[in-house]
Amino acid sequence: MKFADEPLAYHPKVRSMEDYETLYRQSLEEPEVFWSERARALSWFYPPHSTMDVDPESTDVAWYSGGRLNACFNAVDRHAAHRPNKIALVWAKNEPGAYERISFRKLKHEVCRLANVLKSFGVRKGDRVCLYMPMIPELVYAMLACARIGAVHSVVFAGFSAESLRERILDAGCEVVLTANEALRGAKRIPLKHIVDDAVEGLSLVHTVLVARRTDVQVPMHAGRDHFLDEVMDKHRSTCPVEWMAAEDPLFILYTSGSTGKPKGVLHTTGGYLVYAALTHAVVFDLRPDDVHFCTADLGWITGHSYVVYGPLVNGTTTVLLETLPNYPDASRIWEIVDDVKATQLYTAPTALRSLMAAGDAYLETSSRDTLRVLASAGEPINPEAWRWYHDQVGKGRAAVVDTFWQTETGGVLVTPLPFVTPAKPGSATKPFFGVELAVLDDQGHILDKDGVSGNLCVKRSWPGQARTLYGDHRRFRETYYARFPGLYFTGDGCLRDEDGDIWVTGRVDDVLNVSGHRLGTAEVESALSEHDAIAEAAVVGIPHAIKGTGIFAYVVLRPGVSYRSEIELQGALKEQVRHAIGPIATPDGFRIVSALPKTRSGKIMRRILRKIACGETENLGDTTTLADPTLMDELLEKPVEGAA
Ligand code: ATP
Ligand code: MG
Repeated sequence: MKFADEPLAYHPKVRSMEDYETLYRQSLEEPEVFWSERARALSWFYPPHSTMDVDPESTDVAWYSGGRLNACFNAVDRHAAHRPNKIALVWAKNEPGAYERISFRKLKHEVCRLANVLKSFGVRKGDRVCLYMPMIPELVYAMLACARIGAVHSVVFAGFSAESLRERILDAGCEVVLTANEALRGAKRIPLKHIVDDAVEGLSLVHTVLVARRTDVQVPMHAGRDHFLDEVMDKHRSTCPVEWMAAEDPLFILYTSGSTGKPKGVLHTTGGYLVYAALTHAVVFDLRPDDVHFCTADLGWITGHSYVVYGPLVNGTTTVLLETLPNYPDASRIWEIVDDVKATQLYTAPTALRSLMAAGDAYLETSSRDTLRVLASAGEPINPEAWRWYHDQVGKGRAAVVDTFWQTETGGVLVTPLPFVTPAKPGSATKPFFGVELAVLDDQGHILDKDGVSGNLCVKRSWPGQARTLYGDHRRFRETYYARFPGLYFTGDGCLRDEDGDIWVTGRVDDVLNVSGHRLGTAEVESALSEHDAIAEAAVVGIPHAIKGTGIFAYVVLRPGVSYRSEIELQGALKEQVRHAIGPIATPDGFRIVSALPKTRSGKIMRRILRKIACGETENLGDTTTLADPTLMDELLEKPVEGAA
């Protein structure tokens, strides 16, 4: 049997806009040819007999039917066989300057041991396993161990409450939970094991809890149910056969961030997801064989799944696992890690960039960051000011910035510039990735063919990385993504396609501001506010307005140390800023200075909460369990807010 051992050799090289356009055209005109070529970057036990099996009338899609493969084999074994000593994982620990480097050989052995442990506790192909763990190597081992034996992992961000965890354990029907005694996040310690105890209290469903020991702290162990992970791993061999999975067998369930409401259990399958994660990782990050890929995302989010674990490891790339917070002990930490590990790519979120930028440029002075080639951003629109800081200050104008638009449901990047290829436009995610056919629709469902239009961002056809269903609720899947515009996948986001055909994501359509009949995206107004020197971050929401229909209410966070003579004067300056940047139509009607914005645990602004507060509807705030800092609610609810002026 022959397996691809040099995945990079099978990814296309894109060196110019002509290369991009040629390949993009081929990906739409001859999708079977394009996508069967791309599958060669993976090692298949049986090659697929068809590429895509998509029923355009329904929402059921299958990719690479007939193929059999294993995600762990692709991410670990084939590299362990050919380059066992290469570093697979650099673990950047919470303590400054502390690193652990794990080779592909060691990764394979640890994963196999953990896979044998799971089997010994009865985990079989198709079973769901909940991973509620800190950013430690054991979490990566656990994901890959599940994949190896065909179990479906459900990683739950280790910052969620017991109640949120319980809900996710029940929804996915997990009988086994992996956790740690505690997690270290900056100066804080999080008692994970206690939280798990509360979450599974009285649940007969969960028969086994495996506990990694991150620190020396003692935790109560429930006899018969709880086991220390190191002790049980010690009892097992470091070999474990892989389960050859059908291409459409589930790989993982991952709950969305909950920015818009109740989280959805997004299900991804094996073949298509891996092809797409590996291809986007190689092309969007201009991947080269000796790269060190540093993505700061937590594994509790899709960015961690696709661009810390699966994309990089399937490509045989050294990947960095970040345990700490970007500003611990101070705002120079990320840059120092970049130097220490010699990172060639950095992938982070606008929320982190905005806070590091607000801390001041002095924090950039302790590092050179000369190894960086690609600077990427995802999760929210990146405002042009943060984009320019990333490009000019962090990358010293030498590294390419890529603003990648995508979702938990899309598996991988959907819209993005390609580094050193696509002309840069601060604030725009620019062009669709290969195989992604975008459509912009008006609210009546008409496709807007021309450039220079705004509307609802949809995708016309299936791509291999797309989610297949919401776990246990295919109807909700259909209704959430395919009902609004029948036959099209609806992202829920609004966009502007400019005269050059470049995409600017303007925010969620639920948040769109319809002021006197003009549609304004939240991103536009927020970017304009952020351009002001006093402002670290801003969020705007619509409020009822007697004349305009909708008025704009702005929440602003000031930069540290900013002083102003009077709030009225500051408001005047901000209004002037917005008028100048966008036009009088976008002038906010109300302002409020707050110490911080409410965000999901993945760092996204929760505008639905701000809108309710601005409208005085504080009785029913909806699902607030995904809020990162619940204590902020006291401040937000404290002051009565004046309505539109
Ligand atoms: P939920 O679906 O539960 O509300 P969520 O949508 O925040 O949660 P994710 O799947 O993590 O969960 O986030 C995807 C969303 O993030 C996109 O729909 C979009 O609103 C936003 N987003 C991601 N990347 C970008 C980007 N580069 N530019 C603009 N928006 C982005
Ligand atoms: Mg979403």
